[in-house]
Amino acid sequence: MVKVLVTGGAGFIGSHIVDFLILNGYDVVIIDNLSTGKEKNINSRARFYLADITNLDEIESVFAKEKPEIVIHAAAQVMLRKSIEDPVYDARTNIFGTINVLEACRKNNVKKIIYTSTGGARYGEPEYIPVDEKHSLKPLAPYGISKHTAEHYVHAYFKIYGIDYLIFCFGNVYGPRDDPNCKRVTSIFSYMIARNEVPVIFGDGGQTRDFIYVLDLAEFIVNSIDKNPIQRLFNLANGEQISVNEIFSLLKEISGFEYDAKHIDAIPGEIRDICLDTKLAQTELGWKPKTDFKTGLRETFEFIKENYS
Ligand code: NAD
Repeated sequence: MVKVLVTGGAGFIGSHIVDFLILNGYDVVIIDNLSTGKEKNINSRARFYLADITNLDEIESVFAKEKPEIVIHAAAQVMLRKSIEDPVYDARTNIFGTINVLEACRKNNVKKIIYTSTGGARYGEPEYIPVDEKHSLKPLAPYGISKHTAEHYVHAYFKIYGIDYLIFCFGNVYGPRDDPNCKRVTSIFSYMIARNEVPVIFGDGGQTRDFIYVLDLAEFIVNSIDKNPIQRLFNLANGEQISVNEIFSLLKEISGFEYDAKHIDAIPGEIRDICLDTKLAQTELGWKPKTDFKTGLRETFEFIKENYS
């Protein structure tokens, strides 16, 4: 049984990755400090360690005990707005935390690391759409800077120590287990609507994002573990631009909500439009998302209604 350690395995994306790993017969270890992750997300067939990636001793002892072959690194500070409010915390978690994970990998002979990065925040305001992996990098917020900076360390540990790697840069991920407190648009709108409260739209709502359903993503990552593509960094998204106003309209349709949204000022540091080019992942890794946006949004709404309203 191949042993895989998932950092952030109690979180939104990490917990779905853990579920697919277990379904596919992997032996799974989780490291998570439960800062945004939840106990109820933890698969009972995985071994869970409450540990903080910013504490090298803490995570090293888990690595030394478990000796994983593969690491999927999904622990991070993920909130763009929080990264603007507290860039030091963001950098400590996303840069130093990743270096600690890499050090623990190096000292314990991990063969491969899969790093979960951002496609939405690493490129900055797009010079062209869809944005491919060769697009210039001008992140507008500390979150994009910290996530991208850590990519260099992942690459350096490959060059220096031979730890193989894949990096996936996601569009906006949505789906069940997304915590509305993280304030991502699909879940916060679902939360407000499920409670019959009026959602707030920043700016005119015409801003667009590229959404990727969490189960499509998690299954794909698990299926990529054994692959050795020529490139190592891939955008992952649906390649479809969906506006905030469209999301609100679809949710009104799904839920029967009757009111209009409230508009307030746009947030500085947030890009206007983004859509990722995923041709590289399609050709090299067979990326083909299955879930259409309305179906995924319905699942998201049902989850939030059941768990948070
Ligand atoms: P999440 O907040 O649900 O998951 C992050 C997990 O990491 C949580 O369980 C949290 O408790 C844990 N964590 C945070 N700091 C930690 C620390 N210091 N030590 C140990 N554990 C810690 O967020 P998510 O959306 O599941 O994000 C997972 C990964 O995907 C992150 O790397 C994020 O940057 C990336 N990503 C997410 C999105 C998205 O739309 N959700 C988009 C692009 C990239």
